[in-house]
Amino acid sequence: MEWTKEKIAEIYHQPLLELLYQAATIHREHHNSREVQISKLVSIKTDGCPEDCGYCPQAARYHTDINGNSLMSVDEVKQHAQEAKDMGSSRVCMGAAWRNVKDDSDFDQVLEMVKSVNEMDMEVCCTLGMLTENQAKRLADAGLYAYNHNLDTSEEYYKEIISTRGYQDRLDTIDNARKANLTVCSGGIIGMGESDEDRISMLYTYALMKPQPESVPINALVAVEGTPLEEQKPVPIWDMIRMIATTRIVLPESAVRLSAGRTSMSDEGQALCFMAGANSIFAGDKLLTTPNPDFNGDLDLFNKLGLVPMKAYKKGDKPEIKDSYKERPESNEKIKWSRPSHKIERNEIAKEKGKAIKNGFEPRKVVSVKKL
Ligand code: SF4
Repeated sequence: MEWTKEKIAEIYHQPLLELLYQAATIHREHHNSREVQISKLVSIKTDGCPEDCGYCPQAARYHTDINGNSLMSVDEVKQHAQEAKDMGSSRVCMGAAWRNVKDDSDFDQVLEMVKSVNEMDMEVCCTLGMLTENQAKRLADAGLYAYNHNLDTSEEYYKEIISTRGYQDRLDTIDNARKANLTVCSGGIIGMGESDEDRISMLYTYALMKPQPESVPINALVAVEGTPLEEQKPVPIWDMIRMIATTRIVLPESAVRLSAGRTSMSDEGQALCFMAGANSIFAGDKLLTTPNPDFNGDLDLFNKLGLVPMKAYKKGDKPEIKDSYKERPESNEKIKWSRPSHKIERNEIAKEKGKAIKNGFEPRKVVSVKKL
């Protein structure tokens, strides 16, 4: 199929039940519709990020209720992974609040985490910010299966959300992951004030990728007090279903991940998302720093709907561990990531507010997370 934005718009704007039926049909042609992958997201280094993503409570410049930590130990990660595996998870995604990966001892530690989780026969994914081809290669050699790097929204709307890096930087990192033969996990967030055209444009970018991303998380914004998007209205469940169904049709082979925002969705709403082609969820009571349904609640929902957890490495493509992951490059590659110079007014306001609170000039508010 030669995708155009017009074709995707036609799919997206169909009457909802028609769209749902088409998506469910395509889902059944490409996937076992009873299987849903349970992934565990572990925040291995929380908070203190120098970037200014408007939705993120981990950006150091905004004042939120997040408690930061230094890099987790390998043993702690293994413990999280084992607990998740015991509950049916087949994938662990490790997230660090970094702008980009550096060739230092912290990265060496992350490589050991990757190796350890791979040895537990779970799929390992990392989300560590921007990375070079050499860093992607070391991760692959340590046994990494997937690299997550979200485009978040359309290229056009990206400038309204983040000013500290450009869209092309994101695409370059995805390219670097591909060059290292990693699978790609990349998706977006809806409810940030974007238009339908922005959602369609983001899907168009993914549709043109060769190959298309193997995994596509679709998140509903969780508007956190203190971030620039704190006032954003909750996204209706119908938008989530529409977005998931369109993603399923445009990216038929990808795992579509029903990600952030699930705590505010009813079981019925989530069931329609699975019907629309979602075949993965993140489990555990936290999604990096925002609330998420607990494992038992999810397993209960699986039982009601007749869903079963998906096994790891279904395609038999478990990466081999190669000792070369230990080799640090002698000199850093020349990094060409941009630092765009534009400013985003609401990000600047949230930053100033954060400064005032930290300096004791403005009181903290009590509420931290708005529910959908
Ligand atoms: S790069 Fe990641 S951790 Fe940093 S502010 Fe953006 S979303 Fe948050």
